[in-house]
Amino acid sequence: EDVLLEVEDLRVHFPIRRGIVFDRTIGHVRAVDGVSLRIARGTTYGLVGESGCGKSTLGRALLRLNEPTSGRIVLDGTDVRALGREPLRRFRRRMQMVFQDPLSSLDPRQSVQSLLTEPLRVHGLDEADRGRLGGNGERAHVERAAELLEVVGLPRSALARYPHEFSGGQRQRIGIARAMVLNPELVVADEPVSALDVSVQAQVINLLEELQELLGLTYLVIAHDLAVVRHISDTIGVMYLGVIVEEAPSDALYEQPLHPYTLALMSAIPVPDPAVEDARERILLAGDLPSPANPPAGCRFHTRCPFAQERLCADTVPELREVAPGRRVACHWAEEIRDGRITAHRVDP
Ligand code: SF4
Ligand code: MG
Repeated sequence: EDVLLEVEDLRVHFPIRRGIVFDRTIGHVRAVDGVSLRIARGTTYGLVGESGCGKSTLGRALLRLNEPTSGRIVLDGTDVRALGREPLRRFRRRMQMVFQDPLSSLDPRQSVQSLLTEPLRVHGLDEADRGRLGGNGERAHVERAAELLEVVGLPRSALARYPHEFSGGQRQRIGIARAMVLNPELVVADEPVSALDVSVQAQVINLLEELQELLGLTYLVIAHDLAVVRHISDTIGVMYLGVIVEEAPSDALYEQPLHPYTLALMSAIPVPDPAVEDARERILLAGDLPSPANPPAGCRFHTRCPFAQERLCADTVPELREVAPGRRVACHWAEEIRDGRITAHRVDP
């Protein structure tokens, strides 16, 4: 297996501060609290969980847009956390991000041409593109921008236009073109379709898949909705309160989810056939997501888990352990639940 990205025991903690005269730290939000994962080159890792589970923080930490507290991030043999300011700046071209609505935060007075060539003004064209496009000047940058527009299905004439002139789906295409302009190896897409109409979501996901094929990209796709990442992902990781609770090849996960939290997320996916809906047990989660500043002891999910067993679940942290080839689950009772030896009980909110 050709691993492009390796993350080992990554933590991102944010201090909570109080006090005006004596500023002191009274605790930490443990947004990411010990995550390990690997992404093979050319594949897609889908990272799923409720909002507030730490998935965006994890995505941003990989690019050091959030500074990790501890752990290792290795991209293609380079220890990303060890990079100093200038090497990090140069390294950034290899890792790019696609945002939920990339243009909403940008200057609406900037034309598409200016938005797409901006990363090139900072980083320059890479060797191959310089050779191909005849230099590293503005003209070559504009050529590169036009090329990317065509790849994402927009006409060259879009260069002269402004973000507000486009639909949400077209704007996301521009955001994707902007992320690709530097020829990255890893693209982190944080909720790339959640701001879009359902009818447009599939088109944008398909575009990401086409680009992966065309440009040999590796993806981390972040979503709160399992249905969105199903088809694009080779591997899916399910995150809860700063940790990964289940990881599996996409098909296996959908066929047989093993962690109670994954079961709950899956039963939230609407099924078009009402007969199937009736047959499927609905697992409803009790209560709100606990605070990541003070996660529950033992299994972090035990306060909401309909399968929780006294006292092991409340006392002992379940390790993320391999239960089948390529499948990891952090649950003491994964096998018993799978085999129906433990059934769901009501959890009072
Ligand atoms: Fe539920 Fe216990 Fe498994 Fe945690 S370890 S998911 S509380 S059954
Ligand atoms: Mg988020």
